[in-house]
Amino acid sequence: MKVETRDKLYEGKAKIVYATSRPGTVVQYFKDDATAFNALKRGTIVGKGVVNNRMSAAMFERLERARIPTHYLGTLSDREMLCRRLEIIKIETIVRNIVAGSLAKRTGLEEGTPIRQPIVELYYKSDPLGDPMLNDDHVRMLSLATPAELAWMKRTALRINAVLRPHMRTRGLLLVDFKLEFGRAGKKLYLGDEISPDTCRLWDRQTREKLDKDRFRRDLGGVEEAYQEVYRRLVEGTHA
Ligand code: UDP
Repeated sequence: MKVETRDKLYEGKAKIVYATSRPGTVVQYFKDDATAFNALKRGTIVGKGVVNNRMSAAMFERLERARIPTHYLGTLSDREMLCRRLEIIKIETIVRNIVAGSLAKRTGLEEGTPIRQPIVELYYKSDPLGDPMLNDDHVRMLSLATPAELAWMKRTALRINAVLRPHMRTRGLLLVDFKLEFGRAGKKLYLGDEISPDTCRLWDRQTREKLDKDRFRRDLGGVEEAYQEVYRRLVEGTHA
C-alpha cells in the first residue's frame, strides 16, 4: 500500500494520528508510552506499540468479516495502521462480561464475579473532567450523539462482544471488559480507535492471570511478557 504520511493531526497518550496523501484517511502510529489514572502514572512498555497495532488489525479484520464497520483500512508497518478518517464521538463505550475495575469499586461486587448478561456503560471522553460516567439523558443533553446514533453504538458494542469473546476464549483468554470508540464519516458510523491489551481486560482462561494493562496500572510486574503472550495467542494464533 503506497501512502505518504503528512502533518501530525493529534498526539495522544499512546498514539499519534497523521494526515496522509490519500484523502479521507489517517495513519495511527502506536507508541510504547503508557499512562494510567488520567495520566498521573506514566511509563514505557517495550514493544507495546507493535502488539497493539497488530492485535487491533487482527480484531478489526475479524469484525469486518462479521459485517461490523470499522475504520481499519490496512496495516502499513509494525506500528502504523491506515484508517478511515472519523469525527470521533466523545463517548467511551464499555462492555463488561466479568466484574473488574471501576465496576467492582462502584458496586462492591468482588472482582471476577461473572455478569450473566453483558452490560454496556457510557463515559464522557474528557481528560479535564476525568471521564465521568454518563447515561442516555446526559448524552442527549450534551448533544454528544443523536438517540439513533447512541442506540446503534450500544447495539454494535454488544455485537462486537459477541464476536470477540468466543474468539478469545478459543485462544485461552477471558474477555473481562473493553472500551470502544465510535466515529462518523459521511452519513455512516464506524468503530474507531484500537482493540488491544491497553483497552481490554484479558485474563488467562485457566489461571485467571491478568494479561493486560492492569499489570502496569497495579505494578504487578511482567508487563511486557503479558503483552507478548497476548500477541502470540491473538496475532500469531499459537495457543494449544
Ligand atoms: N478503559 C480504557 N480507557 C479508559 C478507561 C477504561 O481503555 O479511559 C478500559 C479498561 O482497560 C478496561 C475497561 O475499559 O478494559 C473498563 O475500565 P474501568 O471502567 O473498570 O476503569 P479502570 O478500572 O480502568 O479505571
